[in-house]
Amino acid sequence: MVIKEEEQASSQPEEQTTSGKDTSENLPTVLDAPYFGRTARIVGSWESVDASGTPHEKNKRGELGKPLYNWYMNRVADDALARTAFPQSAADKRNTLQQVVSRAAKGDVNPDKFEVTDAKALSKHIKRVSEHLGAHVVGIAAVHPSMLYSGSRYPDDGTGATDAARGIKQGPDDMATKYPYAICLSTVWDYNMVQAHRHHIGDHSYHFSQSRLQLIYANLAAYIRELGYEAVQNRAQPMPTALAAGIGELGRNGMVITEKYGARIHLGDPILTNMPLVADKPIDIGVDDFCKVCRKCATTCPTNSITMDDKVVHNGVEKYKINWETCYRLRAYVMEFWEVCMSCVTVCPYTKPKVWWHQLTIGTLRRTPYALRPMLVRGLKFLDDKVWGTVPRKRVKWLTYDSGIKPVKKPRDQAVASVARSNGANGTNGTNGAHANGASANGHGEAPDPSEKMGYYYPLKENTRRFEIMEERAKRSK
Ligand code: SF4
Ligand code: SF4
Repeated sequence: MVIKEEEQASSQPEEQTTSGKDTSENLPTVLDAPYFGRTARIVGSWESVDASGTPHEKNKRGELGKPLYNWYMNRVADDALARTAFPQSAADKRNTLQQVVSRAAKGDVNPDKFEVTDAKALSKHIKRVSEHLGAHVVGIAAVHPSMLYSGSRYPDDGTGATDAARGIKQGPDDMATKYPYAICLSTVWDYNMVQAHRHHIGDHSYHFSQSRLQLIYANLAAYIRELGYEAVQNRAQPMPTALAAGIGELGRNGMVITEKYGARIHLGDPILTNMPLVADKPIDIGVDDFCKVCRKCATTCPTNSITMDDKVVHNGVEKYKINWETCYRLRAYVMEFWEVCMSCVTVCPYTKPKVWWHQLTIGTLRRTPYALRPMLVRGLKFLDDKVWGTVPRKRVKWLTYDSGIKPVKKPRDQAVASVARSNGANGTNGTNGAHANGASANGHGEAPDPSEKMGYYYPLKENTRRFEIMEERAKRSK
């Protein structure tokens, strides 16, 4: 699932609408607040997000309703590749790399500490090591309590013992003092595979990049410990930390948008460390200016979860606020056809191949004075619509999958069985429904004309209506 900015902060207090086009002039600045760039500014008092209030945690407690609970806790994917990609899709979670990595015991910190004489050189070295390990984007943030969860979702202090088990209570202020730096890494979703949004091809790009990222993080954390410093995860919120680390800017679609890869990046759990480093700064690639004009993600979103309106102030932060709940709830109703939507990632004009004209466009935008940017953005948006279309619908073929094949809904008894199977399936080798590919799995229909260039993508706004009907039925059944 695409983890959205809002999903990090679902338990937060009131919001207020900001008026006008540029709110920077009519809102106060909070003096000791960290700077997250132009797209998300702290303008009022904030509270650290309670980790137990994030969507997956709420869902695990059954607070988001039965369909979503079953989607998260009791599903087994029909697709064998999907069952190895993500623990929640697996019949036997031990078949997923993510499960193996996240459950592995952490090593000790080397008592023979490497003496740091040049923090700048060490920061550069850590970035090069991260890239060697496979990270596509790397940044270092100066930690501020506003970036940290209150409480931890999966406590990790490098010893395998939880804070609670050792009677330790460390709030965001303590953690920010103890670990002044956060290292943010990301892997990217393959550009061509992401064109198959709302399709298993896109799912595989998403989930396997997540597996790779976990492995990279585990490798880097181990290296930091071997150098004699602590490396702690699962305490920093990925989005604000990534903004502070200069990974990208926050888009209207709730995703961090990077210079080279646009929105097609996976953010994992940043490493907090006491290693002396030099922090990076937030970047400006014109996302703030683009989002004011563009709205392609909001138009395309099948659940209307992305606002067409101006930014609002939510928990003291001025930003575009997505409706994380409607985005999240869709998943329970479409899992036979895809797992991760990603339409708002694919459609974003920043999500383009990493080629010279993409870099040139962003470079031009960045060098243009703020006052002239709206005019330039209108031209760029016009070109983007003409060349790339308003909705990406390219036919993608990958391995034996083909996004040109129309998905067909399975008979109800089969669909129910695929969810129910997991009750007795954990601990098995996952042979149930062992479809090897998307073409034969999930009741996908007949192959179309091989020369057809356009893929079949699950209907857009019709899908919204379907979702609403499902929601109404779910409410009635409560
Ligand atoms: S397009 Fe809408 S439903 Fe799909 S991931 Fe983005 S916000 Fe969620
Ligand atoms: S699609 Fe447009 S409005 Fe949405 S995040 Fe990308 S640039 Fe911003």
